Amino acid sequence: MVRVRLAPSPTGTLHIGTARTAVFNWLYARHEGGQFLLRIEDTDKERSKSEFTSNILDGLSWLGIDWDEVPTIQSERVEEHRSAIQTLLDSGLAYRCYASEEELTSMREVQKAQNQAPRYDNRHRNLTAEQEASFQAEGREAVIRFRIDDDAVIQWRDLVRGPMQWRGADLGGDMVIARRAPADRIGDPLYNLVVVVDDAAMAITHVIRGEDHIANTAKQLLLYQALELAVPVFAHTPLILNAEGRKLSKRDGVTSINDFQSMGYTAEAIANYMTLLGWSVPEGMEERFTLTQAAEVFSFDRVNKAGARFDWDKLNWLNAQVLHGLTPQQLLDDLSPLWRQQGWSLPEDQSWGVALCELLGPSLTLLKDGIDQAQPFFVCPELESDGLKQLELDGARDAIAQLVKSLESDPWTGIETATAQALLADAANKAGVKKGVLMKSLRAALLGRLQGPDLITTWSLLARVGQDLPRLKRCLP
Ligand code: GLU
Repeated sequence: MVRVRLAPSPTGTLHIGTARTAVFNWLYARHEGGQFLLRIEDTDKERSKSEFTSNILDGLSWLGIDWDEVPTIQSERVEEHRSAIQTLLDSGLAYRCYASEEELTSMREVQKAQNQAPRYDNRHRNLTAEQEASFQAEGREAVIRFRIDDDAVIQWRDLVRGPMQWRGADLGGDMVIARRAPADRIGDPLYNLVVVVDDAAMAITHVIRGEDHIANTAKQLLLYQALELAVPVFAHTPLILNAEGRKLSKRDGVTSINDFQSMGYTAEAIANYMTLLGWSVPEGMEERFTLTQAAEVFSFDRVNKAGARFDWDKLNWLNAQVLHGLTPQQLLDDLSPLWRQQGWSLPEDQSWGVALCELLGPSLTLLKDGIDQAQPFFVCPELESDGLKQLELDGARDAIAQLVKSLESDPWTGIETATAQALLADAANKAGVKKGVLMKSLRAALLGRLQGPDLITTWSLLARVGQDLPRLKRCLP
């Protein structure tokens, strides 16, 4: 049974990269009929916060990603981590290194001066019992390091990148697996060790994560071997890049799923877009899909190795597709809370809001466009310069006057659109102007300007709430 996991650190809100990793894990698990698990990597006590954990879980749920089993909390497993370190110490595969921070810094300075890549030079790998005793007598604390032989060859078949090979020499020397502590203790266990122990304990079969973890994978494979644990399959997904081809960062204005939420994107569009960031649809499949549809056909064969460029136009297009696919009633359910926040109230008659959504829906890209576009239906807009100019045309205000006259003697309820056309033709005729002039003037009167949605529907909606006459009357000659 395929078991995959997302292992977020709760040190910030749900990051786009984490969300995309979540999507790929989820798609693979669901495609394979397997399980998608969560592990909260909260061992950094200072930076981890429970509100970030809640934010991450809420964000995943919002995207439509569900998980199996109760999330594993990494900090609750520290005894298991320590005992794995003890195993490595006992077998001689790990050792205590007493080198002080100053010694390590000057070691790196020498390397830098010689144009060498910084690495630990394994200086405490083979201390004698006497040397250890004397460091301890000095009161030095020690980190614990795992031995990485320079000539070790590490190979795996990556589901995205194919055959991979690393040399031990490229991993920076023996790696620290526990933080500095008095020599009779094991200090706080560190990332690479902890991940291996936890992934094995959770019986993870496939580790799917960003390509920034490739060097960690090489190190972790050595730990699997040393701890005699079953090795999972690895898949490293491409980085998300900005339009300039650089790693997407804070400077691009979006880092967290919350940013997209507050910009007015729908969960469906974001989940859809996250999938397209690195995965291409099979031939014949549309780029607009639900996660469930994508899960049916998802495979790593179609995940690209190259970085995925963030494309706002495509995201906007997807978001528009999602909004245009909503029924007017669904759109009303989404928009009415936003309208209420503006202090606008809907008339009793539910069908009014539905009709407004039917009118505005096709022109929305973001949900919040539905605030600006609905505003003139709730609040009487000022007359703008193009609207005023239209009303100054010969006969324009007279035609409005004719229309007002007939509406006052026989109000139009806004229901019969054929009546509207007849009313306009009649008023234009009486004022001696073309019907087109009256129509443009009517739009100016109702919306303050010459641009807007379908005129008769606009008028009808305003008539139904008694807002057409007052707006026309302000334009009388
Ligand atoms: N906590 C790590 C991160 O957020 C997990 C990486 C992994 O998947 O192993 O980057």
